[in-house]
Amino acid sequence: MDLNLTREEVAFRDEFRSWLASNVPNDWSRWREKPLEESFSYLRAWQRRLHEGGWAAVSWPKEYGGRGATLMQQAIFWEEMARVEAPPMANALGLGLIGPTIIAYGTDAQKKRFIPKILSAEEIWCQGFSEPNAGSDLAALQTEARLDDGDYVVNGQKVWTSYGWVGDWCELVVRTDPAAPKHKGLTVLLVDMKSRGVEVRPLRQMTGESEFNELFFRDVRVPIENVLGKVNDGWNVAVSTLMYERGSYGARLHLLFKRNISRLIELARSVPRNGRSAAEDPLIRQKLAQCFAEIEIMRLNQLRAFSRITATGVPGPEGSIQKIFWSELNQRVQQLAQEILGPYGHLLAADPHAIDKGLWSYGYLRTRGNTIEAGTSEVQRNIIGHFVLGLPRSY
Ligand SMILES: Cc1cc2nc3c(=O)[nH]c(=O)nc-3n(C[C@H](O)[C@H](O)[C@H](O)COP(=O)(O)OP(=O)(O)OC[C@H]3O[C@@H](n4cnc5c(N)ncnc54)[C@H](O)[C@@H]3O)c2cc1C
Repeated sequence: MDLNLTREEVAFRDEFRSWLASNVPNDWSRWREKPLEESFSYLRAWQRRLHEGGWAAVSWPKEYGGRGATLMQQAIFWEEMARVEAPPMANALGLGLIGPTIIAYGTDAQKKRFIPKILSAEEIWCQGFSEPNAGSDLAALQTEARLDDGDYVVNGQKVWTSYGWVGDWCELVVRTDPAAPKHKGLTVLLVDMKSRGVEVRPLRQMTGESEFNELFFRDVRVPIENVLGKVNDGWNVAVSTLMYERGSYGARLHLLFKRNISRLIELARSVPRNGRSAAEDPLIRQKLAQCFAEIEIMRLNQLRAFSRITATGVPGPEGSIQKIFWSELNQRVQQLAQEILGPYGHLLAADPHAIDKGLWSYGYLRTRGNTIEAGTSEVQRNIIGHFVLGLPRSY
């Protein structure tokens, strides 16, 4: 594996770096600690600016408004974003998962209708997959859609729908053939969230935010033109979305983690512990060094995944390996932050004594969800056990 950047990659990096130098907003730190509900219009404006510069979806093909970037260029893009501490983009699911699925499975009319507004953040997308009795076992979902006079009529409930509160459109997986085996009778619909019969209820998380929602569908009419892919082939379409979801995280996380550990090392030097600085405590030093080493391992694993995809054209089990590794590592780093900061680590943004404006208490609580979202750690281990180690299925 050659880890040096090619001439083209250096040119790509320099072009984006210079664009960022004159475009990245310098007041993100003031917004970052506000709840997502308040900072959302700021993030929407930031995505619009990236889009105007041609940087909103570098991985997408050029004909759909992307740059056709290679995997290494995508990694460079996220590294540069993290290096300057750029804000995230508002339409995270539209850009990362749903847009690519529409590009892969959509009709020309669907691509023309939806893709430009995903890029410009004019329409925000959410992902209606999980249900109260269908999370890890997604194919058990019960939300049904019946054909009636040229429309599908949808009834049922989704849960944990991130961005449901701000979503204009939803990639919804429904059961269209209840008699078929559970993986076979599913279809993906593109649903206008303003349709009559859609109700969005907030779910309050332990961070205090309502980042995700419950969605209720009562006799919601969806035109047949809004089927994505083929009727009753929704499992394949949904799995494609999940592959994009698992693959899209790693590259952008490494530098964020690196920034966290550097900040923690800095804090350990100044926070007192047993009559000296935390940095002088042998156990804390070892844990900091361990996390630092693991963050480097995460980077190398990501490069290995890129190298494999570049060589074979197919994503391997690295997506699951990376997902387990980053999500559990993130929890260990946040746990260590709590050990270093003691009771100060619990203080929320509103408290004048909170360290780093409450980001550590927020981080500790929010990272609990990392090992659940985009497939739990147990499910990722099942995938590795079965597809990598050749062990029998566990279910
Ligand atoms: C922050 C966050 C954001 C999310 N955003 C969305 C979203 O936008 N859209 C959406 O559709 N969903 C979303 N989800 C839901 C997420 O996909 C599910 O929570 C996840 O798939 C797990 O499903 P579940 O909660 O029903 O748990 P369950 O599947 O009921 O699992 C419960 C426990 O059993 C374990 N388990 C289940 N099956 C097995 C097995 N076969 N072998 C071993 N252990 C098993 C699990 O690992 C878990 O520990 C989000 C979740 C979180 C935390």
